Amino acid sequence: MATGRLAGKNAVITGAAGGIGLETSILFAKEGANVLMSDISAEALEKALAKVKQLVPNAGRVQVQKCDVSKEAEVKAMIDAVDAWGGIDVLFNNAGIMHADDADAVDTPEAIWDLTQNINVKGVWYGCKHAVLSLRRHNKTRASIINTASVVALVGAATPQLAYTASKGAVLALTRELAMVHAREGFRFNSLCPAPLNTPLLQDWLGDDKPKRARREVHFPVGRFGEAIEQAHAVVFLASDEASFVNGHDFAVDGGMTKAYVTAEGPAAPAPQ
Ligand code: NAD
Repeated sequence: MATGRLAGKNAVITGAAGGIGLETSILFAKEGANVLMSDISAEALEKALAKVKQLVPNAGRVQVQKCDVSKEAEVKAMIDAVDAWGGIDVLFNNAGIMHADDADAVDTPEAIWDLTQNINVKGVWYGCKHAVLSLRRHNKTRASIINTASVVALVGAATPQLAYTASKGAVLALTRELAMVHAREGFRFNSLCPAPLNTPLLQDWLGDDKPKRARREVHFPVGRFGEAIEQAHAVVFLASDEASFVNGHDFAVDGGMTKAYVTAEGPAAPAPQ
């Protein structure tokens, strides 16, 4: 239930056209934030905007702006677009890719390595940089920046996706450092570490193969994949003033996955019959 926890805050969300970014845009609008939704795909953004307006008819300002986060000039323009609203208060640096050709140390093509770092790491740096510049320009003494990493930055994964994993590790490290550097200015920086989600891509991959799904779900102590909305709820908390003492955190929203010691019975006790 929305209770206006983000009322009066001006938020920018990257990768807002789908998945976690879209669910967060909807929840931010419900919680009273003004939201600038941004994505590399202008067409997908228009559809996402229509969805937010349909689901949250009483939303405050909700606008879209196309932005490729790997291009600094576009990131600057995106952050500066909310100057007219009084400047940014919350940035959710969420856009990210995992390329199909991403592989192990031997087989990852250099071009895929570079593309992944440019979007997943440089894009986050550009966002943080222009957010800080804007916050200072507007004399803000309170702000929240949330950067999307992944559980693969916290635990090793056998899936060979080296460029992606390295990029998300870098997100954790840069977020922690920025949290320390800007703490006295009142600017909080936290990382969100989602576990694999129940996305359309995952559903396509698993199909109707129930044993295949069960083999994957067993790794989650809660016994299931996560939903994008569950990530969005965590982002609302981190963005809100309720999280005023939460800074430099690797916020794993993972059903306990990264805390599990997996025994022969699995990572968790079975539910009572
Ligand atoms: P998604 O693919 O649904 O959304 C990502 C969005 O980013 C897309 O709308 C895409 O158009 C946009 N995007 C891609 N490149 C961009 C660029 N250069 N500039 C701006 N926008 C760009 O994925 P999602 O699952 O919602 O993922 C969001 C974030 O969560 C990503 O950073 C991803 O790495 C991370 N994550 C996802 C999962 C998962 O299981 N889905 C798990 C852990 C972490």
